[in-house]
Amino acid sequence: MSEQTQSSQYTSDLPERVVVAMRQHGSPGYPRAFEVWYAHLSGEMPALSMAMGAIITGSEGQVGAADIDNLYDRFISTERLARQAERTSLQVLGEIDSLMSLVDRALDSSERYHGRLSAMSDEVPPMTDRQRLREWVEALVMSTREEVVRKTQLESQLKDSSNEIRHLREALETTRAEALTDPLTGLANRRHFEEMLQKSIDQATLQREPFALVMADIDFFKTFNDAHGHLTGDQVLRLVARTMKDKFKEKAVISRFGGEEFAIILPEADIVAGKFGAETVRQALLTRELIKRSTNENLGRITISLGVSAYRRGDTAGSLVDRADQALMQAKRDGRNRTITEEALDTTSRVA
Ligand code: GH3
Ligand code: MG
Ligand code: MG
Repeated sequence: MSEQTQSSQYTSDLPERVVVAMRQHGSPGYPRAFEVWYAHLSGEMPALSMAMGAIITGSEGQVGAADIDNLYDRFISTERLARQAERTSLQVLGEIDSLMSLVDRALDSSERYHGRLSAMSDEVPPMTDRQRLREWVEALVMSTREEVVRKTQLESQLKDSSNEIRHLREALETTRAEALTDPLTGLANRRHFEEMLQKSIDQATLQREPFALVMADIDFFKTFNDAHGHLTGDQVLRLVARTMKDKFKEKAVISRFGGEEFAIILPEADIVAGKFGAETVRQALLTRELIKRSTNENLGRITISLGVSAYRRGDTAGSLVDRADQALMQAKRDGRNRTITEEALDTTSRVA
């Protein structure tokens, strides 16, 4: 807290304080880390600062690469993408406006042309007056030619404008998709997961459709990172994500909940089906040996622990996640590499 109070007084020292803090907390020196620390110390993003505070308290002051990446993905990149999406939306609206005014102009000019034609048809000169007849035909040809030119110009402007709208719309869709995706694994990110969980709860309440929630956490991942490095650790996260994608039907929402934790929403699943799904992933991972690509070194196998809860009437997102989390913690206590359901929870061991 004292860091934030200071920041408003000594804003000009901010870059220097960022560097000092990075050293003091053992953070890596790459630009992302600088951005995260800068956002934290400037106090501009209170949610990021709270998360950073929790990391510092929970890790004896150390803020490593994984923490930095997490903070960056959760707060900075999503914020940036949201702003980009907003800008693109405004551009689309602007383009639609100019498209509409083009259509107005087209209608206007064609109305004028038809007005002129009908006026001319009322004034057809007598066949005997060859001079006036020639002038009349020339005027008619001239108007028609002008109208053709105007139409062609408008048509090409309309085409340009609707192409522009199509491009902007595609850009908007890409940005939206990125804002919902975890960049490392390609899974749904936390924000997407939370939206989908709320949707599943609403649907379950209205249509009495069951669904299950699986929380999974990699076992002893810190030890793995310490032994093989953070980048190899990232490959493991990708492998777990791929295994989950292979094992679940398209309708399942598979997400990176944060760090080395995953959350999966299984539609139409009760607790038994939820446990079955969780076990499928756990066992699939057991069959995969990790081979380091660069050295061909065999890094053994990694295991995960899983907790499962199933929707009950009156559940909120928080209560469902909490029960799956309690089951996951029980799985860790029981020795890891296993799935525990909320039904098997030892009630005396529940943590409030
Ligand atoms: P447990 O079996 O109790 O879950 O032990 P653990 O070591 O997995 O648990 P702990 O919560 O102590 O450590 C989680 C580790 O996950 C710490 C961090 O280094 C690592 N981690 C979190 N996010 C990432 C990431 O994006 N990449 C990599 N490589 N590691 C990460
Ligand atoms: Mg964990
Ligand atoms: Mg873990």
